[in-house]
Amino acid sequence: MIPFSPPRIDDKIVSEVADALRSGWITTGPKTKLFEKKIAKYCNVENVLAVNSWTTGAELLLYWFGIKEGDEVIVPVYTYCASANIVRHRGAKVIMVDVNSDFGIDISKVEKYISERTKAIIPVDVGGLPIDFDGLKEIVNKRRVIDKFNPQTENQKKLGRIMILSDAAHSFGAKYKGLNVGSEVDFTVFSFHAVKNLTTAEGGAICINLPTPFDNKEIYKELNTLSLHGQNKDALAKYQKGNWEYDVIDAGFKCNMTDILSSIGLVEFARYETETLPKRKKIFDIYYEGLKNCDWVELPVSKDTNRESSYHLFLLKIKDVSLEERNSIIQEIFKLDVSVNVHYKPLPLLSYYKKLGYEINDYPKAKSIWEREISLPVYFDLSNEQIERVISAVKRAYYKIKKNETII
Ligand SMILES: *Cc1c(COP(=O)(O)O)cnc(C)c1O
Repeated sequence: MIPFSPPRIDDKIVSEVADALRSGWITTGPKTKLFEKKIAKYCNVENVLAVNSWTTGAELLLYWFGIKEGDEVIVPVYTYCASANIVRHRGAKVIMVDVNSDFGIDISKVEKYISERTKAIIPVDVGGLPIDFDGLKEIVNKRRVIDKFNPQTENQKKLGRIMILSDAAHSFGAKYKGLNVGSEVDFTVFSFHAVKNLTTAEGGAICINLPTPFDNKEIYKELNTLSLHGQNKDALAKYQKGNWEYDVIDAGFKCNMTDILSSIGLVEFARYETETLPKRKKIFDIYYEGLKNCDWVELPVSKDTNRESSYHLFLLKIKDVSLEERNSIIQEIFKLDVSVNVHYKPLPLLSYYKKLGYEINDYPKAKSIWEREISLPVYFDLSNEQIERVISAVKRAYYKIKKNETII
């Protein structure tokens, strides 16, 4: 069976983790701080806070911005539940917006969903392809949109407009206008979950990029404190001789990254540009080559004028299939010992959001994409022979279900 996306665990990872364990420092410490610095440099920002997941990091930012019951946050309808769940954790309302055929939020629709209650927008770089950041920034900076903004907290007053928090769970190393993503909007949050391009088993990182008058170094310190219960001294600082006393300035979160996990991240980071990304791109290239002559597929966009994907997910769409046919094609592919996946079941189809009254028919693009989507395996250890088997399985499954033909 060809798996969908196993992590790359080799001797290097194992020995770095062992080294972290033997160092005697297993929670947040020097390795985490080094990992943060490397990400910051790579992402063209000065301040990066490592956290224990995308979810906790992004929710921490909503908390920091004072988002609460009565507020609204705009989220694309086509995403993993985490992007919306964090809004519900803060008690705010999720405002869903439809997407483009490249899976990104439909910028042209955003403004009509903005109200006096809108406090933030969480666009998602689905599959690793950055969204149109300039287009989105233009909207939140429009005079009439700024005039609508109704700030309630110090940070909201200071920003003076809707906050943009980029869900970059898929797009570490993706490029926007030639730069690795991270410095486009107010906050960019990565996920280092086991299936993501760069993994620490579980983990995430926040790129802090607020405009003046914010001091991003101060915001880093503030968020760091908030990621540790609002305690003003972390374990490393308290470890200094005689330095036991601390204060708690807020009922903060507990979402710090550990040095054990950062040790994995440092190995992954060191080989990311030289091994991980080139390999993923190569897999995409072989899929493109193998499927380009099939007039029944719609291949994913991975590059255009301003954007280049991190090649996280190969999001294939089959033309002219019903949901049932798509599902049958997936079953056939599995019978050929190839694992595939669907990204994503749009939020209104999930019981929780359905119960809240969201309706898939309000989002025709997302509905059409979801009914036809199949994600193919992409991971470092996938061999050329396996890639060819995947392509062949997709073709065989399609012909079997759609044409009732058996092809070799
Ligand atoms: C994986 C993922 C997340 C959540 O990341 P965690 O690190 O598991 O919290 C959020 N958004 C998207 C689009 C994801 O794919």
